[in-house]
Amino acid sequence: MMAGVTAPRLDPDLDPPLFIEGSEALIERARRAIPGGVNSPVRAFRAVGGTPVFMRSGEGAWLRDVDANDYVDLVGSWGPMLLGHAHPAVVAAVHDAVGRATSFGTPSEGEVLLAEEILARAPQVERVRLVNSGTEATMSAIRLARGFTGRSKVVKFAGCYHGHVDSLLAAAGSGVATLALPDSPGVTQGSATDTVVLPYNDLGAVERAFAEHGADIACVITEAAAGNMGVVAPRDGFNEGLRRLCDENGALLVMDEVMTGFRVTRSGWYGVDGVAGDLVTFGKVMGGGFPAAAFGGRADVMAMLAPDGPVYQAGTLSGNPVASAAGYATLRACTGEVYRRVDATAERLRAMVHEALAKEGVAHRISSAGSMFSVFFTDEDVRDFASAKRQEAFRYAAFFHRMLRSGVYLPPSAFETWFVSAAHDEDALERVAVALPLAARAAAAAKA
Ligand SMILES: *Cc1c(COP(=O)(O)O)cnc(C)c1O
Repeated sequence: MMAGVTAPRLDPDLDPPLFIEGSEALIERARRAIPGGVNSPVRAFRAVGGTPVFMRSGEGAWLRDVDANDYVDLVGSWGPMLLGHAHPAVVAAVHDAVGRATSFGTPSEGEVLLAEEILARAPQVERVRLVNSGTEATMSAIRLARGFTGRSKVVKFAGCYHGHVDSLLAAAGSGVATLALPDSPGVTQGSATDTVVLPYNDLGAVERAFAEHGADIACVITEAAAGNMGVVAPRDGFNEGLRRLCDENGALLVMDEVMTGFRVTRSGWYGVDGVAGDLVTFGKVMGGGFPAAAFGGRADVMAMLAPDGPVYQAGTLSGNPVASAAGYATLRACTGEVYRRVDATAERLRAMVHEALAKEGVAHRISSAGSMFSVFFTDEDVRDFASAKRQEAFRYAAFFHRMLRSGVYLPPSAFETWFVSAAHDEDALERVAVALPLAARAAAAAKA
């Protein structure tokens, strides 16, 4: 538990309403300076209503806001914090790096260590380049796939999110799904026409797309396991089928492991199904809470990249020494024991959520991919974006706010993954267990 945090509240019926005056004042100021008051849309709480909570510190499984409320964190910065907040080894590595310099614009040793660690964990990746965000990683991978194949079209799946790359925003998950946005204005017809959007988990649709556009398809990009429409794992044989269809048609397979990479196993979803992308993208966990991401893959494809080849890609802060040190320290600390703990904790949480919702008669499906999971308020098996969207998302707002009031911080959207860390201990689970029954009751009582 965080130093100075009070014991878990044992009677949530007695919970006072959250006192969040500090957050209220900050969001008002923020809205005058920043569109919507936030620097990434889902943070604004639009899907659940209410005031976004401004965090001030974190330790292990816990967050503390500017009004000194503390929460069990089940967002984990949307994935990066697999070790929990302020992990001592990561903090020490960052201090050490910062003390030497914050950026060189030259090669530095930390980049090599991080790249080697990625290669050691993900044997399908022969070369890797470091970038600053998952968006940059997928954008660069797409450019490289087009440059390598000399083809223009990209196949993506509805509900999959690959960052806010123009050509990949069509039918995207994450904040685009949360806000139910149509395809974003500002994305030109030109960049959208080269994107073919298909239903997730539908291999027949991919076969038909190849039959129609085969010679024009540069790559298929997919989340290795979808986590941005809520969690929807690939059905048995789906990723394998994509691999086969790409091979048969001379297209590249881009496995987006920005969310799953180094989270669900020491390599990522590759450690679950062994399907190798020609290109693979990483982010989140590998940055240790800093802006660091990567794309990599086959040596012959990566050799097309400048300065070895003609496909341009660059970055002033790419391979930043502080971010590289944080990422390297994080990956080194992600031992087998960490993955066992995270898996076991996720399993217990799923059982707790199921029990609470079942008790109140709330229709739900808990959908998981390794330790990643999310709760759909539906009776139906969720296999793609269409079925994900048929859930009773209105129940989530009531559920979310009751959890928040009891000191549990969930993703502020029914279409996002819940993330567990290795620092979630009995105290944290106890807090969740106490909060769940009332949240389930609130979900049951919610009206559309
Ligand atoms: C988060 C995410 C991205 C985008 O990463 P950013 O660092 O937010 O740009 C891309 N792909 C997937 C699968 C993600 O989950």
